[in-house]
Amino acid sequence: MPGKFCKSCGRGPLLEQFSCRGCPPQSSETSYDLCFECSWNCAREAHTSKWGGDHAFQLFRLRRLCDHCDQEIKTDFLMCTACRQDGGCYDLCLSCVLGRDGVERHKAMTSHEHVFRQVLISTFIPAKSAQPFDTHERWWCNICGQELTAAFFHCQGCGTGSSGFDMCISCADQGGLFRHGVAPIHQFLHVTPTFTPPPNPPQAFPASPGGFVHTNKPPMYDHMPPGNSGYYESM
Ligand SMILES: [Zn+2]
Ligand SMILES: [Zn+2]
Ligand SMILES: [Zn+2]
Ligand SMILES: [Zn+2]
Ligand SMILES: [Zn+2]
Ligand SMILES: [Zn+2]
Ligand SMILES: [Zn+2]
Repeated sequence: MPGKFCKSCGRGPLLEQFSCRGCPPQSSETSYDLCFECSWNCAREAHTSKWGGDHAFQLFRLRRLCDHCDQEIKTDFLMCTACRQDGGCYDLCLSCVLGRDGVERHKAMTSHEHVFRQVLISTFIPAKSAQPFDTHERWWCNICGQELTAAFFHCQGCGTGSSGFDMCISCADQGGLFRHGVAPIHQFLHVTPTFTPPPNPPQAFPASPGGFVHTNKPPMYDHMPPGNSGYYESM
């Protein structure tokens, strides 16, 4: 099988990837695959939101050997996030982690700080649906400028509220999530706004420079005295 590359960030060939079941199959050159890091930062949610529920993802993982004992890994394991994430990656089976000081030995043999993450052997890792939030403001995509009235992605690494960085589903599905913050990685929230009116709706618009007060109600012609030809008399 030819190596798979992440459609969002381009990394690869991948040892584990989330593959879309609605796009061409794994055996095809044009399958839609995402690396673990992009998958964990909303790239699956962006693709499924954009193309519909058939475009759900399944995790595929190549057979892994423990880099300490050379045995095939058959349970959850730890993977070094500082080493390469392709065929040169560094994995440890739990026996080596707990029984053979595998993490400490790996750190001692290499110069930089190595942080391990747990990899679940189970391949059922569902994407999350957009989480609702209440707002009385308008939201815009910071990439294409489109107004955001349904589900979108909010960056946790930029400013807060609607003055922060937000991204529509289309921009997110086209690699926008990855391109936004390579280092340090900005994690996104997958959210959908529930629009509520402002707490105190204004009764009138602010006075214009000329001093005339506009109201937000149309003139009440029906209640004018008979004989009035449709003009307001000035008071
Ligand atoms: Zn990626
Ligand atoms: Zn797809
Ligand atoms: Zn091992
Ligand atoms: Zn390492
Ligand atoms: Zn507000
Ligand atoms: Zn956009
Ligand atoms: Zn950001």
